[in-house]
Amino acid sequence: MLKIIRMKSLLNLSPSLYKPAAAAPFSLCFHSQSTIFLRKATKLKIPQNPNFLPSVSVTNSLTNYSKPSNSSHGRGLCTESAPSGEIHVIVGPMFAGKTTTLLKRMKTESTNGRSVAIIKSSKDSRYGLDSIVTHDGQKLPCLPLADLSSFREKLGAEKYDKLEVIGIDEAQFFGDLYDFCSEAADHDGKTVIVAGLDGDYLRRSFGSVLDLIPIADSVTKLNARCELCGKNAFFTLRKTDETKTELIAGADVYMAVCRNHYVSGQVVKEATKAVLESKNRLISSVL
Ligand SMILES: [Zn+2]
Repeated sequence: MLKIIRMKSLLNLSPSLYKPAAAAPFSLCFHSQSTIFLRKATKLKIPQNPNFLPSVSVTNSLTNYSKPSNSSHGRGLCTESAPSGEIHVIVGPMFAGKTTTLLKRMKTESTNGRSVAIIKSSKDSRYGLDSIVTHDGQKLPCLPLADLSSFREKLGAEKYDKLEVIGIDEAQFFGDLYDFCSEAADHDGKTVIVAGLDGDYLRRSFGSVLDLIPIADSVTKLNARCELCGKNAFFTLRKTDETKTELIAGADVYMAVCRNHYVSGQVVKEATKAVLESKNRLISSVL
């Protein structure tokens, strides 16, 4: 299990922080324990030099701050006691225990007295829409959504403001994942725990899960067991010839495999497909 804790790269103000969602002006704010984060400001201008370091006159920025707030009404404010959000990303192939890990972390947060909510994609209705179920049968209630931007409205503004931890399952299906997570963690002080596939069946980046890495506090890559040899499996092999990226299914269509079996599996699939196509051509020419 690979785990990267507290990515220092956030301090480098990488270009990804200047995505459209982050286009509003920012001020730099300092948390009491030297954590640096960005907040929307109404007056301050964004620095033109992306490599600029936070040696700006922070004292001046802080003099205007008055009251701590966790609500959207206080987004221009920043004080010593303002809540600091977090983003934790859990990735891996299918059958690696991503949802199980997410549920475990959400249960721990809940047990510790924090207010939690879980969101899953409404595209995945395999186990019913109002609950989240792991491959090994664990179950928790959740909110099914087509996009994350509707979460605040669906939950209600008051409940959202009180919420402390947001879990997102099957994160690869949400197109507005980056915007939602950066808003929730950077501006609203929420802890966001995200679980999803990092790669699709062709090992291409899936959705915008990997876009979160530059703004994440931690990234955990889980592995499954190769169905063919039992070694660590980091990839998802699709057993069928279906070519659309989003094909929601379970073990009937997918299996977790190691690198060797991913490569050989793709070769076998290509060979099988070629044989079938040639047979079909033969049959149609005879008919
Ligand atoms: Zn294998």
